[in-house]
Amino acid sequence: MRNAAGAEAGTLPILTPMPFSAVGRLPAVRATYSVPLRTRFRGITVRDGLLLRGDAGWGEVSPFWDYDAAESAAWLRAGLEAAEEGWPEPVRSAVPVNVTVPAVGPEEAHRIVRASGGCTTAKVKVAEPGQSVAQEQERLEAVRDALGPAGRIRVDANAAWDLGTALERVRLLDRAAGGLEYAEQPSATVEELAALRRRTDVPIAADESIRRASDPLAVRRAEAADVVVLKVQPLGGVRSCLRLAEEVGLPVVVSSALESSVGIAAGVALAAALPELPYACGLATVHLFEHDTVPDPLLPVDGALPVRRPEPTADSLAATRADDDVAARWSERLSEMAAHLEVAR
Ligand SMILES: [Mg+2]
Repeated sequence: MRNAAGAEAGTLPILTPMPFSAVGRLPAVRATYSVPLRTRFRGITVRDGLLLRGDAGWGEVSPFWDYDAAESAAWLRAGLEAAEEGWPEPVRSAVPVNVTVPAVGPEEAHRIVRASGGCTTAKVKVAEPGQSVAQEQERLEAVRDALGPAGRIRVDANAAWDLGTALERVRLLDRAAGGLEYAEQPSATVEELAALRRRTDVPIAADESIRRASDPLAVRRAEAADVVVLKVQPLGGVRSCLRLAEEVGLPVVVSSALESSVGIAAGVALAAALPELPYACGLATVHLFEHDTVPDPLLPVDGALPVRRPEPTADSLAATRADDDVAARWSERLSEMAAHLEVAR
């Protein structure tokens, strides 16, 4: 007997419907993936998550393990939107993307930019614990060398600096980069971002201040940013991000939450549906995966991702399948997330 995904029942336990009682309408076809990362990123070396298949296609639900059930419920909402509703019509057919340069040495940074599939914008991680400003300056100089004078360079400090440090670092890194496109979340609070923004010419982007904040519109009220970074899963789906973008009224950079291509497709759908897209998006992260959940990964060509929605196959799911322990953890977690969504659904 073959199930809806074309897989032999019994040979692919990932595709066997799991019993679920808290919410009646969760898609029955589910898969759990677990894939090693090529580079340690966000402190993790293996990425895992859940895939759900409903009437509209496959959706990814992959909150990081340090998110609790309440915060993770937004990720489930995004996955259900993908699986059950699909996404709004695109207004463009390709989405320009940046290459992401982790906190590596200058030679490696240079190599990553050159191997990026034609990206002309680079996002460089800074404020890595244990690294010096000199190391960051060398990394930025190497990235500028690899991109050439027309390339754009942005840095992401992941909320690491207090205001005084941020002022000094942004100035030094702007010089080392030969001009920064923007500095992403240099400090933690909206107040610090606003104060920094008044004292530097480098544009400021808000990421954590949007996606982990109880009030994402505080950024706009405080005039704390020039750009906002939106991520589909933590913000509860493509439509929810489109609404937020309209309310915030600032240019949007769509970024990934380090998903497989199933989740990246949702980010691409958001970027493709935004009325304006003046910046390259942070959606070129699938190359960090050793394997992908689809046979035709969403990788950049000429610095852009095509607007399409790759589908997993029985083979690609089998190749990335999580072991039973991990699958059991996700099954339990799905129940917790769904319990939080019961009212919304
Ligand atoms: Mg960020």
